[in-house]
Amino acid sequence: MNRLKIAIQKSGRLSDDCQELLKACGIKFHYNKDRLIVYAKNQPIELLRVRDDDIPALVFDGVADLGFVGENVLGECQLDRQNKGETASFNKLKVFEFGECRLSLAVPKDFDYQSLASLKNARIATSYPNLLKKYMDDNTVPFKNCLLTGSVEVAPSAGIAHAICDLVSSGATLEANGLKEVEVIYRSKACLIVKSEPLSAEKQALVDKLLTRMTGVEQAKESKYIMLHAPKDKLPEIVKFLPCAENPTILPLAQDDGKVAVHIVSQETLFWETMENLKAMGASSILVLPIEKMMI
Ligand code: ATP
Ligand code: MG
Repeated sequence: MNRLKIAIQKSGRLSDDCQELLKACGIKFHYNKDRLIVYAKNQPIELLRVRDDDIPALVFDGVADLGFVGENVLGECQLDRQNKGETASFNKLKVFEFGECRLSLAVPKDFDYQSLASLKNARIATSYPNLLKKYMDDNTVPFKNCLLTGSVEVAPSAGIAHAICDLVSSGATLEANGLKEVEVIYRSKACLIVKSEPLSAEKQALVDKLLTRMTGVEQAKESKYIMLHAPKDKLPEIVKFLPCAENPTILPLAQDDGKVAVHIVSQETLFWETMENLKAMGASSILVLPIEKMMI
């Protein structure tokens, strides 16, 4: 079978999370920081380690079968192709909980911003010209585009632009540059895309297996294994109180007829308040354990 080609960011904000996810799915790699192509040791998979900006096109053109990329970069590349009258076909398989950020408009703190119309004819620096243009066009506000591939946040203080349109997560970079966020134009997370051309049956089976494992990894991350001892007469009350996915396992305790052990898998974290309430109801030895893998 041909190897399944997966494009991932070589180094940057998404690379660690993507590599960890593949590892958690049981795919083993020997990463070498200079290698563009890395083969998996235990599956017919190869990684193409590239800049994130190149990932959508590799998948649109079918060079890579799958790609991990931020929805922001994907949206930008898709619009770029469409604006040039070229095709950009792909399918989105999954959106992850990592790589969360927003593409926002920001202006200097002393800028008198009332509404988007305040940016009429302003010069806006961005690395996302297509997403910005679409947003401004949809809101019929004319503006001047100033394309910068980096250091966008210093454009206003350097006198290059009146405002910026850049990625924000905590807002600390904006704050450090004397800027305030005024509009969110796009919300993004990391996602997994597949080329639109059908995969061979073997590759499709491998993709399906990967997706099931990814779901298992996510569920395990969100779930906890909870164990506690409960007095038998308080059992219904205590079980009702637990955030439980399936019926709990009830086990007898050695040399104690009055109590049982309760084990459950919970989709929610058990908060301190819940643990205190359970204790007040008579529960004891309450343990909350992480789950590494699960398959439901
Ligand atoms: P490359 O060298 O691969 O082109 P880059 O500098 O363009 O890297 P990174 O800064 O590593 O990209 O960000 C990669 C992606 O991580 C972004 O496109 C976005 O989807 C996501 N991301 C999450 N939080 C942030 C943030 N605070 N700032 C920038 N990107 C973020
Ligand atoms: Mg990039």
